[in-house]
Amino acid sequence: MEGLRVLELYSGIGGMHYAVQESGIPAQVVAAIDINTTANQVYKHNFPDTTLWNKTIEGITLDDFNKLPFDMILMSPPCQPFTRIGLQGDIADPRTKSFLYILDLLPRLCRRPRFILLENVKGFESSSARERLVKTLMECGYTYQEIMVSPTSVGIPNSRLRYFLVAKLSTENESTWSSKVLDAFPLPAESESPEQHTVSRPLRPATGQPEHLEEHLEEHLEEHLEEHLEEHLEEDLEGGRVLYKQETAVDAQRKRRQNNDLSVRQIQDFLQQEVKMEPFLLPPITLLRYALLLDIVQPTCRRSVCFTKGYGRYVEGTGSVLQCCPETEVENVFRGLDQVSEEEKLQKLLKLKLRYFTPREVANLMGFPQSFSFPEQVSTKQQYRVLGNSLHVGVVARLLQLLVS
Ligand code: SAH
Repeated sequence: MEGLRVLELYSGIGGMHYAVQESGIPAQVVAAIDINTTANQVYKHNFPDTTLWNKTIEGITLDDFNKLPFDMILMSPPCQPFTRIGLQGDIADPRTKSFLYILDLLPRLCRRPRFILLENVKGFESSSARERLVKTLMECGYTYQEIMVSPTSVGIPNSRLRYFLVAKLSTENESTWSSKVLDAFPLPAESESPEQHTVSRPLRPATGQPEHLEEHLEEHLEEHLEEHLEEHLEEDLEGGRVLYKQETAVDAQRKRRQNNDLSVRQIQDFLQQEVKMEPFLLPPITLLRYALLLDIVQPTCRRSVCFTKGYGRYVEGTGSVLQCCPETEVENVFRGLDQVSEEEKLQKLLKLKLRYFTPREVANLMGFPQSFSFPEQVSTKQQYRVLGNSLHVGVVARLLQLLVS
């Protein structure tokens, strides 16, 4: 049995491909397309037998697509047009062009794919790009479901709230899909195993706030800060201006609640056993200037913030750092830190033994299998960058099962 023929657009390092494998759905990726050289090197390294087109999507003709052909499209269009606060380029942004091209092709394909899955950032759901997508899908006879989920909802201690849309060509005896954007996986049908019931948690008990709102705020801020820092960090370093932030009581309470959520696993399950720590330790200059901006987690924590492409280069909002000396109390280190000399401050901070998560550990938190690896020539910074653009494999695998079942 050959299985479903899958077209993987904006394939990056192949998060979607791994999700197909993990879903257990009989399928093969018939073509993957991306223009990023580094990402393509990683993809080729892990999937040497998959056809990978190093081309812009808008440069591929209808005829080329018809010749494949395919039953399923998986895609993560560039998300930058939808993340910028107040500056959302949306469909006017040149980076959306390829996506509009796909929407234009869909009705004209000789054979429409039975299934489509799209991933994007929170914010996409209110974009004109999303409106055009939905309109095209309906005109082409698809039913669809939108859902906003984070890996925390499948027990992973990492926030990565994303928008997903799954669509299938309509048949007559459907469909139970809702017109609302769901904020958790739909409750499983009766035939599914009972333990799956525990992962659908639309509400957080402590506040009654939908989980995605809190995470959205957190990540919205992260994305914004990342961009802000990309623009201003160099300047800050030169000028020696110190950025400053104190955790609020609300932040502390949220972190405590996340760490007490036993449906989520501990960070330590995702750590490498034998890590040469030195290259990953935070350098003194980073500790001195940005200590108060760090999101620090311990191996026993059940939370960490989303790893974005700037991880390892910029500090705030790009991902958590790991405290390797859990005996040292973070509060003790930070108490009165601004009243001591630089030297003392550094000595105190060094006691925490703070390090970055390694790319392998980030990959673990994003659900990549052990078989996944990077080619030697890809630097650590590049590894963080391509991982930051990717997705949580387990979340997508689960959505694929929902789509195809
Ligand atoms: N899902 C992927 C990541 C997608 S990020 C993963 O698992 O890694 C978006 C990707 O789209 C980037 O790798 C970028 O290089 C690619 N891209 C952006 N515009 C493109 C275009 N016009 N044609 C082909 N690829 C494009």
